[in-house]
Amino acid sequence: EMEMTHKQNVKDYIDNLIKKVEKRNPNELEFHQAVKEVLDSLIPVLVKNPTYIKQAVLERMVEPERLITFRVPWVDDQGNVKVNRGFRVQFNSAIGPYKGGLRFHPSVNTSIIKFLGFEQILKNSLTGQPIGGGKGGSDFDPKGKSDLEIMRFCQSFMTELSKHIGPDIDVPAGDIGVGAREIGYMFGQYKKLRGAYEAGVLTGKGIGYGGSLGRKEATGYGTVYFVDEMLKDQGLSFNDSTVVVSGSGNVSIYAMEKAMQLGAKVVACSDSSGYIYDPNGIDLDTIKQLKEVENKRIYDYVKIHPEASFKVGCSGIWSIPCDIALPCATQNELDKEAAESLISNGVKAIGEGANMPSTQEAIDAFLENDILFAPAKAANAGGVAVSALEMAQNSARLAWTQEEVDSKLQDIMKDIYQKSINASKEYEAEGNLVIGANIAGFVKVADAMIEHGVI
Ligand code: GLU
Repeated sequence: EMEMTHKQNVKDYIDNLIKKVEKRNPNELEFHQAVKEVLDSLIPVLVKNPTYIKQAVLERMVEPERLITFRVPWVDDQGNVKVNRGFRVQFNSAIGPYKGGLRFHPSVNTSIIKFLGFEQILKNSLTGQPIGGGKGGSDFDPKGKSDLEIMRFCQSFMTELSKHIGPDIDVPAGDIGVGAREIGYMFGQYKKLRGAYEAGVLTGKGIGYGGSLGRKEATGYGTVYFVDEMLKDQGLSFNDSTVVVSGSGNVSIYAMEKAMQLGAKVVACSDSSGYIYDPNGIDLDTIKQLKEVENKRIYDYVKIHPEASFKVGCSGIWSIPCDIALPCATQNELDKEAAESLISNGVKAIGEGANMPSTQEAIDAFLENDILFAPAKAANAGGVAVSALEMAQNSARLAWTQEEVDSKLQDIMKDIYQKSINASKEYEAEGNLVIGANIAGFVKVADAMIEHGVI
């Protein structure tokens, strides 16, 4: 009976803390969603270990160490002055310098940056690498901008951001809207401002100036490696499976590539305009040409492959029957309705390549129906893990081969799966990787925070 009251007290404590976060951060719905999902899943670890409550570890963890917002003025090709808003959240540095990507997308605001930064704390911890949690970006829309406009924007963005980052302070990388080109322009500006070659200040760099082989593929490959571990544990595999992958950016492309290499047939992918369905299996070379080279829309695929069909809208992709679904586009792209449609069509496993792509209702539906579910923090950690390997190579002034990096990535993804599944068993939620990943990621950061004192 005492145990019951203790558990109820912990639940009340968590509910109050969630309310406090909602009150303190009004209108930040995505941030609320990410915090609630994590805090609810940590109840078993707090029940076992009241020190975390006594030390107010959670109250500290949900409050960023620092949130920087800044003006980003730039000049477009017509000579007009434009102004965007820049962000960097330095969320948690308990286990290493802040680490996390930069997102350039019109939807970027404080809530988006804080949800991503908060998730990054636990994700980075799970990788086993010495990296804290951060995230940044801008509401700048790269779509339709010329190369010179992108360059001027990146330079202005870095002029301000450079005051807050460094190889041992905070190490940004890419995310939606930020790839090798943007990282190159930002690195050039940082180097010029610093007057020093600090290669480890950014990751996702070009291979010729300090980038790591395998970084480009890491998030997508890592997601598939993780899902493969999860499948194997149940005697299943990618071989001969039908797979649907949303998105057609960096994460999606390399998730499709690895799934195909493992014998899967990928029948659909998407962009913000809609999705394509190719019953013969997606031709990845065409997608790469359209998306990595020509900057075209996904509907151009059907001009080259008339056997495929294009449909407007993004959520329709989840009505396509498949064995494995990999949401690799963006947050909240997979809702309750989509989850129910996947389930009724017999889906066996979900692997989140994007950050928070499933709504809470969708996750609940998957778990209630015993669908294998690989949460983003664990499944998409391969990208930032290889970023940490890039930092290591930069510090050692050497470069590993593609094979070396890929084998380390495979080991890391296997390790994340083991840590997560073990934590789920230890805390009586066997097989629930949401709970397992959150707890395994949390404990390492929480213990470091306690060892550092009240800081
Ligand atoms: N943006 C990626 C993520 O969501 C990678 C971050 C990084 O490499 O620092 O984890």
